[in-house]
Amino acid sequence: MLSYQHAYHAGNFADVHKHLILYAVTNYLLRKKTAITYIDTHAGRGLYPLATKETQRLQEYREGILPLWQAREQRSDPLLSGWLSAVIAAQPVAQELTHYPGSPWWLSQPLREHDRLRLFELHPGEHQHLNAQALPPQAQRIYGDGLAGLTAMLPVATPRLCVLIDPSFERKAEYQEVADTVIHALEKARHGVVMVWYPLLPAGHHHVLLNALKNSGVRKIWRSELLLRAPTEQTHGMYGSGMLVINPPWGLDERLATAMAEVTPCLGEESRHEAQWWVEE
Ligand code: SAM
Repeated sequence: MLSYQHAYHAGNFADVHKHLILYAVTNYLLRKKTAITYIDTHAGRGLYPLATKETQRLQEYREGILPLWQAREQRSDPLLSGWLSAVIAAQPVAQELTHYPGSPWWLSQPLREHDRLRLFELHPGEHQHLNAQALPPQAQRIYGDGLAGLTAMLPVATPRLCVLIDPSFERKAEYQEVADTVIHALEKARHGVVMVWYPLLPAGHHHVLLNALKNSGVRKIWRSELLLRAPTEQTHGMYGSGMLVINPPWGLDERLATAMAEVTPCLGEESRHEAQWWVEE
């Protein structure tokens, strides 16, 4: 039984972190003409009106997209400015922040005619919302399990593959299941670019995922973490956002470091970004 709904968290600091990396990676991939299959294993709704009851309950966007939006005129980093321009373009009314775009929206932006996008969503209500979104014809929405769906789709027919795995981690076992799926996927698509998001929680469950990947023999795993605040003994809930990029495009680390140097001051004094290889080449 799935209970997580991303609308409660839409536009929070973790979304900013995840979607900025997603935007940077897809921009790099567009430098070559060969076709790409994008797979989003946990798609969510696709677009989140901020005024909904769910999003208004926690208003997490106030510690995420909102401060960046308010400072958008002062941003000079090209990656961050491009990303913010995309957020502006996602708004139905120009210059008013009323919606936050989810990963299906971010992944549909770079689609060229010969690319494909497969969006998996297992929650019936969330899938219905996703179905209601206007997406290009290359995007196919699948009501089903994203990890099993990814495994079944490999190898893909296009020369290149780009995957986002962004589970809700409602079950502890998901950390290991994600690691097993990634290891298997890379056996079928060695050069695929695979992004895996994970939460930083006081319980530290993400170490299961990180260690399983480190011990698997998979190489070229880059790790980026955005901390909203340093954890203390009193910390409850998510204090940071992590993203792994396996087979990252060359130069991603530097581009993201300069963008994040402009992001963190907007998120508060304690916010910081750290990135390094988790497993080198
Ligand atoms: N990727 C989205 C974004 O960036 O906008 C947010 C995804 S949200 C963190 C996780 C989503 O995965 C939820 O909508 C949930 O219903 C869905 N989900 C949970 N388990 C799933 C599974 N096994 N397969 C596909 N979707 C699943």
